[in-house]
Amino acid sequence: MLEKLKGLFIKPYYRCLICRHAVKSKAYPFCHRCGHLYSRIISHNCHDCGKPPRECSCIDVEPCLGIYRLFDYKGFTAMRVLYTLKKRASVWDYEYVTSKLVERIYATSGQGMSFDCVCYVPREKKSIDRYGYDQSKRLAMLLAQSLGCEWKPLIAHTGVEGEQKRLSREFRGVAAKTRFKINESALVEGKLPYKRVLLADDIITTGATMSECARILKSHGVKHIFGIAIAHTPGRKNWHLHNSK
Ligand SMILES: [Zn+2]
Ligand SMILES: [Zn+2]
Repeated sequence: MLEKLKGLFIKPYYRCLICRHAVKSKAYPFCHRCGHLYSRIISHNCHDCGKPPRECSCIDVEPCLGIYRLFDYKGFTAMRVLYTLKKRASVWDYEYVTSKLVERIYATSGQGMSFDCVCYVPREKKSIDRYGYDQSKRLAMLLAQSLGCEWKPLIAHTGVEGEQKRLSREFRGVAAKTRFKINESALVEGKLPYKRVLLADDIITTGATMSECARILKSHGVKHIFGIAIAHTPGRKNWHLHNSK
């Protein structure tokens, strides 16, 4: 009875990922106006190579064999979506984004694409305390569910604080190297028991963070590593590889 009354008086309230106005259904987190903006960024060709996103293979993050992303981090719409997902998104917003990422994986690599495990680049503790969740962990869990494989936190923080944004570009690649380590509890006889791992993060800026985490996986026996992010910042290709020399 109480549930019925609640259903009558408390309408579920879903919000647009961009303008935060109410939307009708949790299945599509955009209002009419923002839906147009979003469909434009998601179908936009790669800003770096000019190819459609599903054909683009220009994001080079060693030692990942491939990188999937939904859209380029450029312009108001992309920034707004990432901002909301990072700070105040609901689980169904992530369900929507995950379903689109899975579509992108299959469109790029074929329906036969599979992984043994999905892991993620962990968010700093103070950031989790502030916003209440780890966005990359959410992504990893939902991706694993959709792809029908395991998810596990394979990467852990070293405890070194690194507010990357405050560091100059020259030092970001270096700073990232000290921030992560293997999650010891995931090891079996010193190795990770996985061959194909998908490594999730919300955004790839220079690729330095993802590269460092992928190297940690590789050095613990993972043969094939693929990276996945909601967005990628164009125009910064490989700068860290050139600068570190
Ligand atoms: Zn809107
Ligand atoms: Zn490209």
